[in-house]
Amino acid sequence: MDGTLTFLGTGTSMGVPTLGCPCAVCNSADPHDRRLRPSVLLRWNDPAAGAERVVVIDTGPDFREQALREHVRHVDAVLYTHAHADHIMGLDDLRPLSFIAQKRGGPIPLYADPAAIKVLERVFEYTLSPDATYPARARVQPKPLGEHTWAYGVDFVRVPLLHGEQPICGFRFGNAAYLTDVSSIPEPSFALLAGVEVLVISALRHTPHPSHATLEQSVEWSRRIGPRQTWFTHIAHDLAHEETNRGLPANIQLAHDGLSVPVTL
Ligand SMILES: [Zn+2]
Ligand SMILES: [Zn+2]
Repeated sequence: MDGTLTFLGTGTSMGVPTLGCPCAVCNSADPHDRRLRPSVLLRWNDPAAGAERVVVIDTGPDFREQALREHVRHVDAVLYTHAHADHIMGLDDLRPLSFIAQKRGGPIPLYADPAAIKVLERVFEYTLSPDATYPARARVQPKPLGEHTWAYGVDFVRVPLLHGEQPICGFRFGNAAYLTDVSSIPEPSFALLAGVEVLVISALRHTPHPSHATLEQSVEWSRRIGPRQTWFTHIAHDLAHEETNRGLPANIQLAHDGLSVPVTL
């Protein structure tokens, strides 16, 4: 099946521009230097249902703006990489979309690791607690990720990653993979990435960070995995879009918000 992967946001946790920052990238006139919090959207036509399917990976604090920009009118499932604020705080903005999902048949499934579900249940207690009574709460249903999570005919393979010392997950789907917030890729995960043609991987900046890979490290991993095209995401304000991309090979580039690329599912 043909699908489209859209970058809802390509920024690091603080977003770019970063609040209070006087740097050149934060003050750049290039729209590609404006990066909302990191998230992607996958769309495809489901022949079994004769309908478009929409899966979101992470709902960050900018989710509402991103969904408006991309004309998202329904969401069939959400997958979470981990439960840090820049990846989960838009969960509540699923509310209107979850009412649509509920009418069509049920709550929106939220697939996440058990540890991440625990955080979601704490942060969004008024929505997810079995005792929740708030009438306008999001109609969403946390579900633990398996090694394979099937959503409407697409197999989302959990790719174990490390974010500092925290185990988190990336996802492989069809010929593509989305690996964000990675500081280390456990050796067995490379086998799960064999044959990936479109690789999305985080690349924070040049300066080392305890829980994020540098651009140079992500270039090295990209060469090892060997996709046709690599797109970098979760980018800090240290990297100017145009200048950084000029210094990279054409098949390894910084993505930008709103970029859509074809994938095969
Ligand atoms: Zn992050
Ligand atoms: Zn800055």
